[in-house]
Amino acid sequence: MVKINEPGSGHGDMTSPLGNRHWAYTDKKALATLKRALFILRSNVKGMKPCNKCFKALPGGKTFDEILADDTIWINYEPRTDRGWYGITISVGGKDVSISQSAFNKGRWWVAGTLVHELAHVNGASASTGDADDTLLCCGLKNAYEGAIGMNQSGTGEEDSMMA
Ligand SMILES: [Zn+2]
Repeated sequence: MVKINEPGSGHGDMTSPLGNRHWAYTDKKALATLKRALFILRSNVKGMKPCNKCFKALPGGKTFDEILADDTIWINYEPRTDRGWYGITISVGGKDVSISQSAFNKGRWWVAGTLVHELAHVNGASASTGDADDTLLCCGLKNAYEGAIGMNQSGTGEEDSMMA
C-alpha cells in the first residue's frame, strides 16, 4: 500500500527544486480526508478491470492495483493553495507525490481523482499528453475528470517542468 507521510513516519519534509512542498501531514483535517480518499481507492477503484487495463498500458506497465500496493510510493502534503495544481509528482516514474490543500478543499472524491492522476505519472504517464487524466475515465472518477483536472489536458500550464 502506498504510504502516507504522517508526522513520525520518518520520510520527513522535502521541498523540490521548484519550491513545491512534499511535507508531512501536520493538518489533521487534510490527513483525515486523505485517508478517506485512499479508502475510496481501495474499496471502489482497486480491482476494476478497465482501470487496471488503462494503467497497464502506461509506459510503467503496472496495473493500478500494483501501483496502489507499492509501499515505496509516498503521498506527501503541500499545505498551500497558491500552487496552481492539485497534485504533483516529483518526476515521471518518481515515487514522491504531493497533494495540495487546494485538492483537500474540494473534498475526498476530488482527492481520490487527483491521486489516480498522480499515480498514473508514477506509472510513467507523460506530462505532455492527457494520459494521466484519461485514467480517471477508466477508473470510475469521471466527476473529477470533468472538473479542472480534465481541463488541464489542453495544456494550460498544469504540467510544468515537474509533474503536476
Ligand atoms: Zn499531470
